[in-house]
Amino acid sequence: MSSESDGHAARRDFGAAPVEARWARSAQAWERAKAVLGGGVSTGLRASMRPHPLFFERGEGSRIWDVDGHSYLDYVLGWGPLILGHSHPSLVAAVGRQLRLGQTFGAGHRGEYEVAEQLCAAIPGAEKVLWSNTGSEANQIALRLARAATGRVRFIKFWGHYHGWSDSMLFGYRPSADGSLEGLASKGQHPGGLDDVILVPWNDLDAVRAALAAGSDSIAAIFAEPVLCNSGVIAPAPGFLDGLRKLCDSYGALLVFDEVITGFRVAYGGGSERYGVPADLVVLAKAIGAGLPLAAIAGRADLIDLTTKGVVHAGTHNGGPLVLAAASVTLTELARPGIYSTFEQRAARLVSGIRDSFERHGVLGAAHHVGPVVQVAPGIASVGSFSDYLCADWDWYDALTIQLLQRGVFNLPGGRWYISTAHTAEQIDETVEAFDDAVEATTNGVGLPQASPLRGARF
Ligand code: PMP
Repeated sequence: MSSESDGHAARRDFGAAPVEARWARSAQAWERAKAVLGGGVSTGLRASMRPHPLFFERGEGSRIWDVDGHSYLDYVLGWGPLILGHSHPSLVAAVGRQLRLGQTFGAGHRGEYEVAEQLCAAIPGAEKVLWSNTGSEANQIALRLARAATGRVRFIKFWGHYHGWSDSMLFGYRPSADGSLEGLASKGQHPGGLDDVILVPWNDLDAVRAALAAGSDSIAAIFAEPVLCNSGVIAPAPGFLDGLRKLCDSYGALLVFDEVITGFRVAYGGGSERYGVPADLVVLAKAIGAGLPLAAIAGRADLIDLTTKGVVHAGTHNGGPLVLAAASVTLTELARPGIYSTFEQRAARLVSGIRDSFERHGVLGAAHHVGPVVQVAPGIASVGSFSDYLCADWDWYDALTIQLLQRGVFNLPGGRWYISTAHTAEQIDETVEAFDDAVEATTNGVGLPQASPLRGARF
């Protein structure tokens, strides 16, 4: 993960100056925040927002309002969690009800097992659940379980996949300040982790096979986002996940799907349902809490039960009644008929509008989606690999996002868009129109996007 100043010394800062007055209150708030928060933000990634981190005061459904009084259609969705949009009435009611009954007991309650039952019913192969708070934490526990189950220490992960910020997993995600992908991703990170990770290219089954063959008796697990959402929304090649499953089985390693983004999003049962491949452990976060901090590890009972045989899994806030009240409602809402086919339709419409717009304005650019996760990448024809993704013109995209903000569309740096159940067909059409206008303004202002080899991406 890069901090704001990493990896983009030669960044072209298009377009921010003429629009500064538009976000005067946000700019002021950010100045105040910078005086008391590291980088003026609560997570380093938010510093990459353009023209600078904006400040918000309200959200409702698919809309969000900033402190300067502008409203936007929200495709950031809290960086993924808000799958039902902002403040869904059932969620507000359920959390309100629970809040009146007490916010935490530090002891057992009904939500813990009821929502675990919902997860086990939804996720292929899941028999038991552990509750946790964030995706970073939950991946740590999954790694610990895999090590305890196999008696092995090393693990395979793929270039460009993100499994949280912990010392043991933050490798091969983004180029560091010197432009290198190798080595430690963060200053202060324990160097010992480098000995335990084997990085291989996504969708390259031969590379996985070779890595397992070379280190067969030392590899505890393969970790993968079933769709490489964090670096280009790159779907698994046909047969790839199944290939991983079979290789894990023959080498006695565990298959861990990090479904922090894909879970309850690319299908109700996540990537393992969509691609028909069960993992041994599935890590969930973001959508399951619909905006409240909740994560889970769901999987084989014998693995989860290792927590009764010496594996430590702890956390003051694990499985709290408030977040589980939110999760229960969320999973119930997402189980309604037609949710996932509507996601596909909305995303397909957005993608075709974006492609048409690029074509109309002579912009080379890629747009595609998996479920309600859309990826846009200017300057390249398609995103087939992590290196394609890094080559896209993210400076140009920054200029585009500022134009989009001025037209009432809020989206993430790095080209990923999330669609919620609250986004209507009309709002997607509205967004496509705004996108077309924004592309025209961007090309008029800064020209066409240019691909460049391994640009230091910062998100
Ligand atoms: N895994 C994946 C696939 C993620 O996308 C993220 C967060 N973007 C994480 C893990 C880490 O989750 P958290 O931010 O909740 O720690």
